[in-house]
Amino acid sequence: MKPLKIAIQKSGRLNEKSVELLKNCGLSFENYKSSLISPVSNFPLEILFLRDDDIPEYVQDGIADLGIVGENVIMETEVDVSYLQRLGFGKCTLKIALPNGSEIEELKQLEGKSIATSYPVILDKFLRENKISADIRTISGSVEISPGLGLSDAIFDIVSTGGTLKSNGLKPFADVISSEAVLIGRKGEENHEHVQDLIQRIQSVLRAKETKYVVLNVSQECLPEILKLLPGVKSPSVLPLAESGWVAVHTVIPERDFWNKISQLKAAGAQGIVVMPIEKIIL
Ligand code: ATP
Ligand code: ZN
Repeated sequence: MKPLKIAIQKSGRLNEKSVELLKNCGLSFENYKSSLISPVSNFPLEILFLRDDDIPEYVQDGIADLGIVGENVIMETEVDVSYLQRLGFGKCTLKIALPNGSEIEELKQLEGKSIATSYPVILDKFLRENKISADIRTISGSVEISPGLGLSDAIFDIVSTGGTLKSNGLKPFADVISSEAVLIGRKGEENHEHVQDLIQRIQSVLRAKETKYVVLNVSQECLPEILKLLPGVKSPSVLPLAESGWVAVHTVIPERDFWNKISQLKAAGAQGIVVMPIEKIIL
């Protein structure tokens, strides 16, 4: 059978995390910066290294079966592809920003103003939804210098920390969309055996990232209190220790609730808490 093709960014903000994710899925491939295509030796898959802007169309047109790309790029290219899985990296927000000292205070005051952006499609949709008619100036890079040069009244761009805005005398004004990297697939191919296999591997890696494996010791008297603190886990293992009256509890804890949960467990009598990363969780 012909191998599937997955397109990922060749270099840039999504490249490293995309490669890491695929490697964590157990896929074995060479990651030469010079190659456009790299075969996976232990799975029927080839990896295509492309500019991120080309990925949605390549997937839509079937040149690649799958792709890893930012939602912002998918929305901007308006392609018809399937969203298969959010990937939790490459997070950013696309915002409208104004020069410090701008007299604009509410959205509708953008009426008739000029806005510079590399994302005209997303901006146009947002303005239409808000019934604002503004002059969209499409430029391909360094959008943030445009108000300073007198080329626009506002900008619409990706903002992560806001440092670039600040250093160009701009301030965030309105959040339009938030975005993260997603796995996309060609329409109609979602149920392909190897696509499903890959999605499942990716999900098991993502689940593992969200949880930690925890082992703790506790006296028999305190055990009921400890078990009450571990809801949602079907069956924490409880193993007797050599010292009578004591047990070890093995369980998994969600990363987001981690420190809070650990202090509650300590307060309830947990001792010798050992925390380990989990590589994969296969349901
Ligand atoms: P390419 O050469 O592949 O066209 P690029 O310059 O368009 O790359 P990058 O700057 O590498 O793109 O960003 C790729 C994606 O990373 C963005 O489309 C976005 O989804 C995501 N991203 C996350 N945080 C940021 C950020 N602070 N600035 C820009 N992109 C970000
Ligand atoms: Zn790009």
